[in-house]
Amino acid sequence: MTNPLYDALFAPHEGKDTAFLHLADGRVLSHADFLAMADRTANALGTLGVKPGDRVAVHVEKSPEALALYAACVKAGVVFLPLNTAYTPKELDYFVGDSGAALFVCDPGEAEALAPIAAATGAVLKTLAGDGSGSLSDVVATQSAAFAPVPRGEDDLAALLYTSGTTGRSKGAMLTQKNLLSNAQALVDCWRFTADDVLLHALPIFHSHGLFVATNVMLLAGGAIIFLPKFDLETVLAKLPKATTMMGVPTFYTRLLDDPRFTRDLVGHMRLFISGSAPLLAETHRAFEGRTGHRILERYGMTETSMNTSNPYDGDRRAGTVGFPLPGVEVRVCDPETRAALPVGEIGMLHVRGPNVFKGYWQMPEKTKEELQEDGWFITGDLARIDADGYVTIVGRGKDLIISGGYNIYPKEIEIFLDGQPGVKESAVVGAPHPDFGESVVAVLVPEGGAEIDLAAIEAAARADLAGFKRPRHYVVLDALPRNTMGKVQKAELRATYAEVFRQKAG
Ligand code: ATP
Ligand code: MG
Repeated sequence: MTNPLYDALFAPHEGKDTAFLHLADGRVLSHADFLAMADRTANALGTLGVKPGDRVAVHVEKSPEALALYAACVKAGVVFLPLNTAYTPKELDYFVGDSGAALFVCDPGEAEALAPIAAATGAVLKTLAGDGSGSLSDVVATQSAAFAPVPRGEDDLAALLYTSGTTGRSKGAMLTQKNLLSNAQALVDCWRFTADDVLLHALPIFHSHGLFVATNVMLLAGGAIIFLPKFDLETVLAKLPKATTMMGVPTFYTRLLDDPRFTRDLVGHMRLFISGSAPLLAETHRAFEGRTGHRILERYGMTETSMNTSNPYDGDRRAGTVGFPLPGVEVRVCDPETRAALPVGEIGMLHVRGPNVFKGYWQMPEKTKEELQEDGWFITGDLARIDADGYVTIVGRGKDLIISGGYNIYPKEIEIFLDGQPGVKESAVVGAPHPDFGESVVAVLVPEGGAEIDLAAIEAAARADLAGFKRPRHYVVLDALPRNTMGKVQKAELRATYAEVFRQKAG
């Protein structure tokens, strides 16, 4: 038995002895440098008592050392558990406790605040950066750069990745070697990545998008990564001339479009821009094409399945859709209640099946049973439509569906209408409790820079264009929508805020 994920992503092979990580400060790490760092780190894990199958919880800023820790975990058969850098100690307490992590790696500034969590959960706490005080890097520095991969089967866990918590408490998705490897292979094929590619990588590596999509794809293809700690507009503009491809969340692209220096001349040489993690507005898609000549390729994935669907590399990249299932992946749209498959074009719950689908939720057998059916279909929680020609459109989250007077209202339909109104930059639609209708529609609007929103005009347009039950009953104007670090609109937060404000009393 070998370690298939390690062999495919990390084992040295032709084309990998070249530059691998280009850092923001100009330093370049070769694949050989990186692999030596990973081997030392794998030895350090053993020295610290971490065994195959143990979880290593990692709450650190993006760095080559953090990435080497991921490679080390794969090689040592240890389950990598990256955590959002925005999480507070209170939130980390849940993740470290729930996962039963053996080792908890953090940045130096937070060691003191996190010590009680480690003490309570029994995890060994180590800071990542080497400062001579026994940090993980100090232990790494004393190790040899030779480490034999620990054999793993394709169903063994490679990572435990918690969902973003957009619709409720985050759940730990158990991802196997097969899940991650099959996904990386499908993406390299679909998006034509080769060892000649240089990916501009400004995504975090604690999320599926930045780690299992962006990083794994480049590791498998043998290309190089411009590895930026975060999306900093100046740095991104400066580095784009050296990149061949970029992956990002929609807000990366809107921020680039807001800057007049982002031109066709700057990115005409590039071959591909990819967007995911949140819906890309059709308007952004069009503006990007107008400015650069590139059509952004939008794709759709989730923590539990890595990537599900992608617009085509060749062929029509259709704005507002997330394209077709990846090779080996099946999708279907079903009635949310009966789970019976629905006819083409109807909106329903999206189910996904394939080698990318996770093994289940960590220590949540009931939840796993509810959402991961015995025949392998995973109920995504997303509402979608599949057109006659196979394109999948995500219509919204099942949990965001508004039911008013017995009618199903898909917030996205109303958001598309509102986004098209003069002076509106973006919008979010949520439900507020209503005693007679169940819910009523609340529209949250963000004005274009400097513009005034004419609510009376929007009301009039809504009367003309939308059925009565879909029309917003309440309007709120905000400077910005609440979003998490991946650009996802926090609808639960909007609902919680405005449910009370607009709750209508009976009678
Ligand atoms: P939780 O499951 O804890 O509520 P989450 O679903 O936001 O959080 P992630 O796994 O990070 O956690 O996000 C996956 C979700 O992001 C998908 O289910 C989908 O709703 C949304 N998403 C991802 N890509 C796209 C896209 N291209 N268009 C629309 N939605 C997308
Ligand atoms: Mg989810």
